[in-house]
Amino acid sequence: MTPLTESEIRAAFVNCTKGEAKRLTVPRDLADRPWDDLDYLGWRDPQAPDRAYLVTTLDGRPTALALRCPSAAPRQSRNMCSVCLTAPAGGVSLMVARKAGRAGQQGNSVGTYLCGDLACSLYVRGRKDAGAGARLPESLTLEEKIQRTVANLAAFMARVTA
Ligand SMILES: [Zn+2]
Repeated sequence: MTPLTESEIRAAFVNCTKGEAKRLTVPRDLADRPWDDLDYLGWRDPQAPDRAYLVTTLDGRPTALALRCPSAAPRQSRNMCSVCLTAPAGGVSLMVARKAGRAGQQGNSVGTYLCGDLACSLYVRGRKDAGAGARLPESLTLEEKIQRTVANLAAFMARVTA
């Protein structure tokens, strides 16, 4: 994805208030992130481990989500991430997003299982070791796996903004 700046990321949040987007923790090392290998940039708040964030480019526009992880520690069971279909040794976490707009104000949210370290893009590309047996052998090309990851993430984001 195209590298984003801190202000672009803060402006991209669709499911939190402007004040929250201003205050939340954005990584300081944005310039050093492997943007070329990322379908989305995800991170956890080091001050609040139950909070995670991700930003991606959707229809050419940066779009970011604020997420809650109800159980702060990644689950030990080898569940599969719904976005990249990896069962990483580090575990997957249930991540819950408040819905955008009025639905979110009324307390509605949607959840999905994501790699606890939000490193889906790196697992798909084999840039980070997910552990033995973490990924099923598939006949898809890397490009097809990336497209599927992007499509799964877009589907989740569509549920948040629906
Ligand atoms: Zn994943």
